[in-house]
Amino acid sequence: MIKRIGNTDIQPRHRAVCHCGAVVLELELPDGVVDPCRCNCSMCRRRGAIVASVPLAGLRIVSGEETLRRYQFNTMTAQHYFCGNCGIYTHHQRRSNPEQYGYNIACLEGVDPFDLPGPIPVGDGVNHPADR
Ligand SMILES: [Zn+2]
Repeated sequence: MIKRIGNTDIQPRHRAVCHCGAVVLELELPDGVVDPCRCNCSMCRRRGAIVASVPLAGLRIVSGEETLRRYQFNTMTAQHYFCGNCGIYTHHQRRSNPEQYGYNIACLEGVDPFDLPGPIPVGDGVNHPADR
């Protein structure tokens, strides 16, 4: 877990915002940023975001629910959300653990993902257990 990124302290309730500001999320992050990773699946390798984890109950849509678009593919289990206005990925409900959301660290207010201590682990989404 990471409690501080660059000059920004991760708040127990930290906001995440898309680029245009239409979509605002409130994330419960009492333990800071948990399990930041990249993933090599067909979706994530194109998206390029660093993703961290939050339980389903730890994510609240403050505004922009009507602007969010959902994208699903393959097994249609994971639900990927992005802003229908600016196109930025904000969060997704995981396939590997449907009790969790992954969220885009770069949307956290005040956080520059390039300040994350590296190297960022890469999840093996190509060889996903649900595909075996
Ligand atoms: Zn937006």
